[in-house]
Amino acid sequence: MGTKEWDHVSLIIDPLLRPDLTRLASAIGSSPLTRFAPSPTGYLHLGHVVNAIYVWGIARALNGRVLLRIEDHDRIRCRPEYEVAVLEDLAWLGFEPDLGLDPLLRQSDTPAVYETALSRLRESSNVYACECSRKDIGGERYEGRCRERRLEMRSGRGIRVQLAAGDEVFDDALLGRQTQAPAEQCGDLLVKDRDDHWTYQFAVTVDDVRQEVTLVIRGSDLVSSTGRQLLLARMLGRRNTPVFMHHPLIHDGLGEKLSKSAGDAGVRELRSAGLTPEEVIATAAARVGLLNPGESIRAVDVARLFRA
Ligand SMILES: [Zn+2]
Repeated sequence: MGTKEWDHVSLIIDPLLRPDLTRLASAIGSSPLTRFAPSPTGYLHLGHVVNAIYVWGIARALNGRVLLRIEDHDRIRCRPEYEVAVLEDLAWLGFEPDLGLDPLLRQSDTPAVYETALSRLRESSNVYACECSRKDIGGERYEGRCRERRLEMRSGRGIRVQLAAGDEVFDDALLGRQTQAPAEQCGDLLVKDRDDHWTYQFAVTVDDVRQEVTLVIRGSDLVSSTGRQLLLARMLGRRNTPVFMHHPLIHDGLGEKLSKSAGDAGVRELRSAGLTPEEVIATAAARVGLLNPGESIRAVDVARLFRA
């Protein structure tokens, strides 16, 4: 670990905090497309700002583009007022997407896309109805209870796809080589839930394939989803694999991931407390160690946090 002076910022070169940009560029090719994909189920908080710093910072450092995608596949928890607030806070912070803002790219606007992907999946994979509730299943892994039951697909039942056994291996740009066994981890993947909503795993995978996202930058809490998304993407016909990068999360003193309930600060609250966008971005950057506390940085300058 070394330190490099950049203006007033001391840049700490930490392999778990900043990717090797040269290696990343050669792995992805020219002009990567990454995405910022908030769910309008609440307001933006510092955790989202950390993600935005990574997404815009790495994209700009590699002359890439950022796609904004509103992940509103969960029609129960998403609210229009949250969507308005998320867009407003993002604009206030100064993070400008290159694609997906006008017109706004929302999952809920394109149901046919997911229906088509499901039809495609049914041609080559075992897709079946599942009537199990979360309580029936118990843990994370689905044991395949309905796999051979040939239940009729109808409302009130979920839809699953059978996953082949085997390892998925990928090189995370920050965490290094990862090996996951999706069928062992989660069992057959839920595509649509019993409330008739596309699941996060399915919607995100379909979108990353069709939007040709080449670099997925997200928090390390999602690393265990990657193997199943890689496998599902191949089942959906994707040939080229995106590069994944899972970055650190803001933690509280107890080592727990900081959520809103744990007292995480919302961007709105920090705004009304009088902080500038530069100060909010700097606060988020400092909380994961990308910046020293007390400094400030503009959204248009976050690439500097990653250039060694
Ligand atoms: Zn079942």
